[in-house]
Amino acid sequence: MRLLIVEDDPLIADGLIRAMRASGHAVDHTDSGVEADQALRQYPYDLVILDLGLPRMDGLDVLRRLRANRSGVPVLVLTARDSLDDRVAGLDAGADDYLAKPFDLPELEARVRALLRRQQPSLSGRMQLGELVIDVNGRSAYHGNRRIELSSREFGVLEVLARRAGRVVGKDQMLDALTGWDEEVGTNAIEVYVHRLRKKIEPAGVNIRTVRGLGYLLDKTGEDG
Ligand code: CA
Repeated sequence: MRLLIVEDDPLIADGLIRAMRASGHAVDHTDSGVEADQALRQYPYDLVILDLGLPRMDGLDVLRRLRANRSGVPVLVLTARDSLDDRVAGLDAGADDYLAKPFDLPELEARVRALLRRQQPSLSGRMQLGELVIDVNGRSAYHGNRRIELSSREFGVLEVLARRAGRVVGKDQMLDALTGWDEEVGTNAIEVYVHRLRKKIEPAGVNIRTVRGLGYLLDKTGEDG
């Protein structure tokens, strides 16, 4: 999943970035409301963690603009201002959840998981294709009961493909879903991950087909035709 963290307190931002990366997400961070507004128009995020007290453009304005553009991306609002009015204003502006500072990271992580689950119910637990079982929360894959050893990137590629099983996923789409701004990953790297992943999941009866010029498609073996 690709997340945008908008937070101008460097200590809090650092903690959030580490926690979300440790959960296996691609994370972009900005301390500016203006930059957040631009990024949200440009990139497909799965979730936004948004501080309200930001210089130049307030978090509430970022949120109002986002919803005015008819974006349904889930937004978890953070604020130091834990008054009822602020909470109501945040929810009215289109926040999906609300957490007052100071907060505990485990609580934030649980709320992020809940928002992502609500957004994509099919990803809540396990996905199965052929004999391949994908445990999304545990970020692991199994052939029957046997765990398939995957790197974090390989699992990311598998997740993106599985979410759109049977449909073609472009390399650029994969890059967008897998990487943040400060990570240098090219389409060549995607080819390498796909190559490795393909070998690992083939025994489970699942194939990654290359659709020349377009991208990749995840399918059960024997169903291509
Ligand atoms: Ca702030």
